[in-house]
Amino acid sequence: MNKADVLIIGAGAAGLIAAYKLANAGKKVTVLEAQDRIGGRIHTLEGRSGGPAVELGAEFVHGDLPVTLGLLNEAGIKYHSASATMWRYEQGKFTANDSFIEHWDLLINRLNKLGQDINIDDFMIQEFPGDKYNRMRTSIRQFVSGYDTADPKKASCFALRNEWQNEDDSAQHRITGGYGVLMNYLANECKANAGEICLNSIAKDIYWEPGKASVITTDGTTYQADKMIIAVPLGVLQAATEKKGAITFHPPVNAYSEAIQQMGFGAVIKILLEFDERFWENGQSGEQAGEKPKDMGYLFSTEEIPTWWTQFPEHSTVFTGWIGGPGAEAKRDMTDEEILLEGLQSVANIFKLNIGELKKRLKSWHVVNWTAKPFTQGSYAYDTVNAPAARKTLNTPVDATLFFTGEYLYEGTAMGTVEAALTSGTDVAEQVMR
Ligand SMILES: Cc1cc2nc3c(=O)[nH]c(=O)nc-3n(C[C@H](O)[C@H](O)[C@H](O)COP(=O)(O)OP(=O)(O)OC[C@H]3O[C@@H](n4cnc5c(N)ncnc54)[C@H](O)[C@@H]3O)c2cc1C
Repeated sequence: MNKADVLIIGAGAAGLIAAYKLANAGKKVTVLEAQDRIGGRIHTLEGRSGGPAVELGAEFVHGDLPVTLGLLNEAGIKYHSASATMWRYEQGKFTANDSFIEHWDLLINRLNKLGQDINIDDFMIQEFPGDKYNRMRTSIRQFVSGYDTADPKKASCFALRNEWQNEDDSAQHRITGGYGVLMNYLANECKANAGEICLNSIAKDIYWEPGKASVITTDGTTYQADKMIIAVPLGVLQAATEKKGAITFHPPVNAYSEAIQQMGFGAVIKILLEFDERFWENGQSGEQAGEKPKDMGYLFSTEEIPTWWTQFPEHSTVFTGWIGGPGAEAKRDMTDEEILLEGLQSVANIFKLNIGELKKRLKSWHVVNWTAKPFTQGSYAYDTVNAPAARKTLNTPVDATLFFTGEYLYEGTAMGTVEAALTSGTDVAEQVMR
């Protein structure tokens, strides 16, 4: 029997920062991680031949976020600006994407008048019916699906209102060497303080009573501790018991299980395509091409894989595709090759290139279907109408013995981010120490 003061299930950002803080405070910490690597939804691949790192998961620091930037400074890890111009490709033309949602001010005004929370899809139909607002309704659905990776039929108006009014457009950063460098820092600091991180350890059954908790992994090993932090993604907690990665509590924690099912967890697929050159800098030829995209950072389209971005201001030959929300959920069971083909076809359509030609120019590729991954089961959390009450339940420890943490338990404006996970992990470490 392996015995620790605190057992942590999951070595993502939330689990690792909790481990780092607790080990630092002298606690005997053991972290169990299902995969053969740490980081969870942070998965950095080192760049080839000294080129920039490639992020299969989290990539940006969305604003001057205090916990993330504080840690980077503490660890002496550099970061650089990722601010770049946005473009839109619609009806065969590129346009600079200054104000891409029509009637935006009116939308915010109506949201501010909303007394009782409803989902954004119902709100749009109710407040902006008819042909006049067709385009606006479509843009909102695309935005909620693409950026929040949420289902508009479930996403809360109050949460979106809060997000849209607190957006920090001015600062976007990328971490030099990738987010993985920060995860390694936390893991190394934890180990330096006698913390243990066990990879390939899939938690399956959790047994608990006040002041005592144990877990049995799928290989039959038992670990025990006084307190346990559950730092697995919301999607894993929502998964049916027979699913790989799913966890069963003995005795059941019914109020917590119900709260887990009340929260929203999105869907996403990220596609990284490395080409022989940056053909996107040339735009399209011909009179119908619209403006010629300059310094292209982000590109929004109505193609099957709608959103794309470059590594600007880095001059990289990697072009990244993204589909979120119900569109990504619908592709859960597709093969990576099928998704790759849809990505290539979308790029070919946008730049008016021949797909056969494009395939020849492809040097390497990654399709990361996060929704299909057993130890993630989705993208990141979004608020449903019932989420605030559910989060309150889950942020309350079970008999001072079981503690939940993860990006989905963060209260603030940087929802669904690494900042959210780091903040929640820090909070839970403090709760455990109290
Ligand atoms: C494609 C994508 C892009 C993103 N882009 C950004 C971005 O640009 N900026 C940003 O700030 N955020 C981004 N995010 C969100 C960010 O990655 C997450 O919010 C954050 O990393 C979540 O951390 P976490 O610790 O809560 O969960 P996770 O990182 O998911 O960690 C949970 C850990 O638990 C492990 N686990 C699961 N089941 C078990 C089990 N049964 N037993 C043991 N271990 C288990 C998992 O393997 C994993 O390591 C992105 C997410 C995705 C998917």
